[in-house]
Order: sequence, then structure tokens, then C-alpha cells
Amino acid sequence: MMTVDYQGPARVTILGSTGSVGCSTLDIIDSQRAAFGDDCVEIIALTARSNHELLARQARHFRPRFVGIVDEEAGAALRARLADTGIEVGIGPDAVNEAAQRETDWAMAAIVGAAGLQSTLTLARCGTVIALANKESLVCAGALLTSLCKKNGSRILPVDSEHNAIFQVLDPNRKDALVNITLTASGGPFRNWSVEQMRTATPAQAVAHPVWSMGSKISVDSASLMNKGLELIEARHLFDVSSDQLAVLIHPQSVVHGLVEYSDGSILAQLGPADMRVPIASAFAWPNRIKTRCTPLSLAAIGTLEFSIPDVERFPALALARAALEKGDACCTALNAANEVAVEAFLAGRIGFLAIAALVDAVLQAAPFDSDAVHSLEEVVDIDKVARRHAREKCAQFQHP
Ligand code: NAD
Ligand code: MG
Repeated sequence: MMTVDYQGPARVTILGSTGSVGCSTLDIIDSQRAAFGDDCVEIIALTARSNHELLARQARHFRPRFVGIVDEEAGAALRARLADTGIEVGIGPDAVNEAAQRETDWAMAAIVGAAGLQSTLTLARCGTVIALANKESLVCAGALLTSLCKKNGSRILPVDSEHNAIFQVLDPNRKDALVNITLTASGGPFRNWSVEQMRTATPAQAVAHPVWSMGSKISVDSASLMNKGLELIEARHLFDVSSDQLAVLIHPQSVVHGLVEYSDGSILAQLGPADMRVPIASAFAWPNRIKTRCTPLSLAAIGTLEFSIPDVERFPALALARAALEKGDACCTALNAANEVAVEAFLAGRIGFLAIAALVDAVLQAAPFDSDAVHSLEEVVDIDKVARRHAREKCAQFQHP
């Protein structure tokens, strides 16, 4: 085989390094270092909310210049753990943003939820190449984020598997011939469940995803199909297409991740194993390709690929997200905020699974949220706050008896 040189970025930052996507990103870096030596890539910064044990282990292994942790108590423990290393430790709510400001060549935005917005915007302002896993920052501030990227020469490389698939097969110079973009969804753990069965679904059942291994919030979103709804909004901003050019297909095998149809009838698709290391590696090396440790996909072993239209009667969250996308940016911001509150309440055992979509619906009915373009962080923060307040107030109506 031909020998290849190291193909990735020279300096890397990972925001949310202790999460599912963060750990997969470090696995990619580990395999690159094993192949090309520890000096091929320097880690500038790693961050986490509170998992000081894992962050300390990552820091000892990968030797970043800086680690940032939000939780103060965890920060004190982290500092003690790293006292002999010379690694700089930042503690508190600004530590993540401080990490995002450090000069780097490639940054993975892998914080979960709107909590990742501020640091993603900072990366955009700094002109950094952003490997974007944090879909919520596009959902709640898509216009703002994309305009900041344009202004500062920052580029978003989509990491969400479906969007990474579309990024790989969509020819930006042939947008005139684009008919539509299809995102696939596995259908989640409740794909074949009745509404009655879902009424008593537990958090443990909702996070037990049949195909992907992910953090708890996105796992619940996958079970309700809100995840696919958020991804429609994400795709609208990433690829600058309208709602009627975006479709969803249920595809339980999760082999085909995204499809692009052109006017001549051709459909181009990206296929791969259901392993986030594939889209992460694609974004890491783009426009090059690197080797991953993933088990290669065997289509012969899978045998059959199925596709069907999602059932929005059983999964109303998808329809709510589609309606928000059609209504405009403010409604998307509110949808995301209400969903975060609802998922948290469900995971804490305060509301049932069906109440997630019902609560989001109730919040969107409660206020107009009708401005089409949200262009400043202040506006986003205001809408997010109002929607969260409505969601918390209404939560009681949906609480378990
Ligand atoms: P996770 O819950 O496993 O990890 C989240 C990370 O964010 C952790 O490092 C945590 O410390 C950090 N974090 C959480 N709250 C924070 C806060 N308030 N401030 C600072 N840091 C905070 O989540 P995940 O599954 O890795 O998902 C991360 C993002 O990637 C989400 O937006 C998700 O939708 C997206 N995504 C994930 C997958 C997947 O396979 N896990 C696939 C596609 C997209
Ligand atoms: Mg996805």
C-alpha cells in the first residue's frame, strides 16, 4: 500500500470532550497519533461541564495546553488532579469560551444543547474551522451563526451523520439541479410502539437506542423523532434549502445516512456503518480521507435495506419541528428551548414520554414567536428565556399524578 502522510489539522480543540462525540473525536486523534507519532497533532484545549475524572484522564493522555471545566467544585478537583502536569486549568462558566478563543486550526463543537451556542459563536468569530456536532446552535441561532461564519471566514463542517452525508454528496455548484435532500432516521427504540405503549415509556427505554450509542439528550430526541425535526432545521441552515426541499425517511438499518436527488433523476447517497467516527473522521481530514478503527460495513451481511415514511401521528415532534421551520427563526429557537426543558423533565422522571411533544406544542401556542429572522445573540437569548419560562410553568400540567 502507498505510504501516506498525516492528513489532519495540526492544532485541535474539542469543546465537550467528555461526551459521546468528544470521546469519539479523541479516538480518531489517538489512531492518527498511533500511525504518525504524537507530534502530528497538537491539542490546544479540551472542555467539559463537570466530569473531572474523565477530563483529567484525557488531559494526561493527550496533553492539551488548556482544559476548561464549568462546574466550580469539579474544577477544584481537576486542578488538584493535574497539579503536576503544567496544563493550564480554567474553571467556571467562561472557561469554555476561553477555550474557544485559543488559536487553533480545527475545533469540534460537541457540547449538548443551547449551552453550546456561545462557544460555537466564538469559534465563528475567530474564523476557526468548526466541526459542528452541536446541532442546537444552528437550530436556535442558524442565521446568526451562518452570517458570523461568512463574515469571519469560518467554515462549518457538519458532523451530524446525516448532514455529513449530504455534505459529502451535495455539489454546491449544482444547486440549480437539486430537487431535494433526504435525511434518514432509524426510527429509534419506539419505532414500532403504539401510542399507548409510549405513554408509559421510561427514560431507560428511551435512551436504549437500537443502533447508535449517544448521549442521553439526543437519545431521547431520537426516540421522539424531535432529533430528526431539529435536523431538518439544521439542514435548512447548512445547505440553504427550503422546507419543501427537505424530506425524512425511516430507515431502521441506519446504513444510508443521507440522499440528494437531482433533476435528471439521479439520487446520490452516502452509506457507512452507524459509528460516529466515520463522519467525525470525514470532518477531521476534509477534504482528505483518513483511516478509522471502525468495523467496515458489510452490505451482504445486512442483506436488506428498508425505507418508509415517518408516522407523524405517533411522533408529533417531527411535525412540530417542521411547522417551526416553516414559521421562522424565532419559533425554531423557542422549539429548541422548550424541548430541552421537556427532555430534562422526562429524564428526571417528572413527565411522561408523550408529554415531551405536548409540552413543546403548548409552549409554541403560548406566545407568537413569529419573527422570521433572529440576527443578534440578545434576541436569541430573550426568546430562549421566554420559551424556557413558559415550559417550566406548563410542566406542572403534564406532571405524573
Ligand atoms: P453528551 O451528553 O454525551 O456530551 C455532552 C458534552 O457537553 C460533555 O462533554 C459535557 O461535559 C458537555 N456539556 C454538557 N452541558 C454543558 C454545559 N452546560 N456547558 C459546557 N459543557 C457542557 O452528548 P453527545 O451525545 O456527545 O452530543 C453532543 C452534541 O452532538 C449534541 O448537540 C448532539 O445533538 C450532537 N450529536 C451527537 C451524536 C452522537 O452520536 N452522540 C450524533 C449526532 C449529533
Ligand atoms: Mg443525526
